Amino acid sequence: MMTTLFPTLRLRRLRQHPVLRDLIRETEVNLGDLILPLFIKGEEGEKVAIRSMPGWFHIPLSKIKEEVEEIVALGITSVMLFGIPPHKDAVGSNSYDEFGIIQKGIRKIREVSSDLLIMSDVCFCEYTDHGHCGFITERLGRPDVDNDRTLELLVKQAISHVQAGANVLAPSGMIDGAVRAIRAGLDASGFEHIPILSHSVKYNTCLYGPFRDAAEGAPLFGDRSSHQMDSANALEALREVQMDVEEGVDMLMVKPAHAYLDVIYRVKQSCPHIPLGAYHTSGEFGMIKAAAEKGWLDEKKAVIEILRAIRRAGADFIITYYAKEAAQWGLFAQK
Ligand SMILES: [Zn+2]
Repeated sequence: MMTTLFPTLRLRRLRQHPVLRDLIRETEVNLGDLILPLFIKGEEGEKVAIRSMPGWFHIPLSKIKEEVEEIVALGITSVMLFGIPPHKDAVGSNSYDEFGIIQKGIRKIREVSSDLLIMSDVCFCEYTDHGHCGFITERLGRPDVDNDRTLELLVKQAISHVQAGANVLAPSGMIDGAVRAIRAGLDASGFEHIPILSHSVKYNTCLYGPFRDAAEGAPLFGDRSSHQMDSANALEALREVQMDVEEGVDMLMVKPAHAYLDVIYRVKQSCPHIPLGAYHTSGEFGMIKAAAEKGWLDEKKAVIEILRAIRRAGADFIITYYAKEAAQWGLFAQK
């Protein structure tokens, strides 16, 4: 009688031959699954290195052509844009100005490539002088983001990004009702074809540290615990997701990624039919970079393993500061 136990069963049989290992691999990461963030700042001059992100730069408008040509030549198919304006104010008005940094940046990218998928971050923290994600009001004796007034401004910002040429909008402020408000605003403006990728589950975490340096969006006072999620909570993530789904979201996102694989898994299990992205944050990038620089980790192997883990947990696509390296290493074939 056949037995399903050792020695009849030997799981190592399928691991002997490299081709066989490739054949039965469950999770692949393709270049088409990766989205490259870009930080646009300034009109003229050279790219400026970002102190806490080795290999990363603020790209002035004058260098966008060169940058986009490089990205496209590498086979990268989508970017997530962040704009750092010349002047910040209390309401982040540059974010919805027709001639704001991001609107100019999007138009420049479009001049170079009509195919590159442009996702734009929709939030206020890079644009406000206080560094918070919306309109600030006073509540219980302390400053707080005014949810509903922020919604009006978010809609304005979203529409102006699309008018400039953005393909996908990515609201990232964890403002209640953002998806519903942006959807309604887009639909009323003839942009019913533009999808929304919501930062549905975004945690209040130290892992955005280097990014805040890059986006110059560190809060002047307080922190973001009144709107971003508590890192101790996972079930709450499902409520956030449910709310976005009911508001008509097109794609979901969990941020950060590597440290929140359990959340990615839960979200995918709860909404298997809605595309899910994960944001491999600047802090997660920095940990690999720093360990690699010290010679403690093999950078390439670490990146492959971690991006694979994020996909294996349930993410369909990943926003990552390693997209260029992944392309240069030639490890991830184009879809
Ligand atoms: Zn923000």
